[in-house]
Amino acid sequence: MLIIKTVDELKDVLFRVKSSGKIVGFVPTMGALHAGHLSLLEKAKSENNVLVCSIFVNPIQFNNKQDLEKYPRNVEKDINYIEDLVDILFLPSEEEVFPSAPTEKFDFGKLESVLEGKYRPGHFNGVATIVKRLFDWIKPEKAYFGEKDYQQLVIIRELVRQFNLPVQIVACPTVREPGGLAISSRNARLSPEEYKIAPCIYQILLSLPPKTTLSVSELKQYAISEIEKIKEFKLEYLEIVNAKTLQPITNFDDAEKVICCVALYLGEVRLIDNIFLKK
Ligand code: AMP
Repeated sequence: MLIIKTVDELKDVLFRVKSSGKIVGFVPTMGALHAGHLSLLEKAKSENNVLVCSIFVNPIQFNNKQDLEKYPRNVEKDINYIEDLVDILFLPSEEEVFPSAPTEKFDFGKLESVLEGKYRPGHFNGVATIVKRLFDWIKPEKAYFGEKDYQQLVIIRELVRQFNLPVQIVACPTVREPGGLAISSRNARLSPEEYKIAPCIYQILLSLPPKTTLSVSELKQYAISEIEKIKEFKLEYLEIVNAKTLQPITNFDDAEKVICCVALYLGEVRLIDNIFLKK
């Protein structure tokens, strides 16, 4: 695995890779790598000639300073974890990515005013800024994103559409622990007690689809009441939305695909998850 820290070297190496006709797959990450990241990397490895992974904890996508400070970082461990799989690891410093304060302003319309976007102002502008820069430098044929961050996936697709970027976005299913908890770098911050409670999120989401005899609003109320039964959960939002537009629906017939998205606090840790109710 070649570790590259500067944009110039990255462009240089990839220019040579592409000149030899090789197809480049790309997986952007913020490190603290786990089985979820690994699933994206393995899929990318199997579909491309050269696999590029980036590790960069992007400060401008954190709207909460504490969350940024507490974000787990362990580059040595990450390198060991992926060195036999990844061809090129891009590991830039903050100065390399943002030599001056970034000024990009994106407009994702209604896609960013709901769900995560509603509670994390500026988050998706920060995500789009880094992903657009990485795409411009790496110019991958395919880039891989997890369905765990479903709104992010939809917004990246919209970014690609708006700027007509020559990259195919590949969605990868959420990887879960045996009990159902969606694997996340933030799970490491859960106490042992919280860690035992956290899988209930997915168990509640799993209990939803068979109840589609209920109306959308009844199903939403049922899901919220199940979550509120667990006193350690502090619900931020639970929405049942059109999986394409991310807008709330009134009837299941209103959308071809329907997804239920949830965000809640367990202690100090903010967890998100989702489930397709219609796919
Ligand atoms: P992050 O390092 O959290 O920015 O995540 C990098 C990529 O990995 C994003 O596309 C995430 O959606 C994806 N990802 C994170 N956790 C999981 C998971 N449990 N299953 C599938 N993909 C994931």
